[in-house]
Amino acid sequence: MSTGGKPRVLLMHPILDPGPGILTEAADVIAYPKDQPLDEAGIRKAAEGCVGIVSQVRDPIRETVLATPGLKIVSNVAVGYDNIDVAAATAHKVMVTNTPGVLDDTTSDFAFALLMAAARRVVEADYFTRSGKFKGWEIDMMLGHDVHDATLGIIGIGRIGRGMAHRAKGFNMRVIYYDPNPLLPEVEQQLAATRVDLGRLLAESDFISIHVPLTKDTQHLISTAQLGLMKPNAILINTSRGPVVDEAALADALKTKKIAGAGLDVYEREPAIHPGLITLPNVVLAPHIASGSIRTRSEMSAMAARNMATAVRGGRPPNLLNPEVKK
Ligand code: NAD
Repeated sequence: MSTGGKPRVLLMHPILDPGPGILTEAADVIAYPKDQPLDEAGIRKAAEGCVGIVSQVRDPIRETVLATPGLKIVSNVAVGYDNIDVAAATAHKVMVTNTPGVLDDTTSDFAFALLMAAARRVVEADYFTRSGKFKGWEIDMMLGHDVHDATLGIIGIGRIGRGMAHRAKGFNMRVIYYDPNPLLPEVEQQLAATRVDLGRLLAESDFISIHVPLTKDTQHLISTAQLGLMKPNAILINTSRGPVVDEAALADALKTKKIAGAGLDVYEREPAIHPGLITLPNVVLAPHIASGSIRTRSEMSAMAARNMATAVRGGRPPNLLNPEVKK
């Protein structure tokens, strides 16, 4: 369980300062072997003798790993935790923690950046200009879609979805949202956001931004039928999790111009990307960096390390997702 008297913790990937210092004060930290595949068998082997695992979104933490004798906590360095089987963790009395709150604004900033880039064809324009195709101003060159005064449909109005609504106000956008959990009336009023059903959101929005967690209910929430309800000028933004959108259906809708564009930060089979998307000019592709500002990644690292340190010292970590494990 421990080497130098301290409990042992498996660090799946390096984290940023001040995370490592917080961890090493509380535990003996061992690094996941660099050459070992990120699969359950490998993680289980590395986790033997550890009380905790500091995991990231690529790490599958399911039954095999969670059944490791002596394992007490998995601290995910992310707000999303679809890589962890929380029900199995609870069954094995393993605490699971995430990093909510510290990345909301940074992620909303990036979702809005994708929205702007797709609307005004920023990436396509950059390629065009660099490749020497710009021969002078033309009235019909690279025309895009206005963001101001447009309708933004937000699917999932949690922390990050609300951040989008807040940003949309600055562009005088009309904001509608779909979420099984309605906002409080005063928050709706403050954000000038109106709750609608999914069909109406899809039919009325010029921009649709997805901010739901990946669950059984949200897998392929957007597929052929939903894309078919969208306007031809609609632009879809996904910074949530890849499997929420049926990537093959999206590639087809973009290719056939059923919708105008998309901005994606996440993919169904990350890091693989549907080959149909790669060649399309009307989609902006990012490598899962929506929370990737220097400050936010550092705060996520610190938060995950504090969750781990608290649990290792026998306390109740602040961001516990399965409180029934630690009464
Ligand atoms: P949150 O829990 O605050 O909000 C999620 C919202 O989705 C809730 O309001 C919930 O009611 C709603 N929801 C759940 N199921 C729904 C459904 N079927 N239809 C519509 N709404 C539904 O979460 P958050 O902090 O805003 O984060 C949202 C997700 O964004 C995370 O789970 C994570 O997967 C993803 N994320 C991605 C990045 C990135 O780097 N790309 C960064 C941060 C978060």
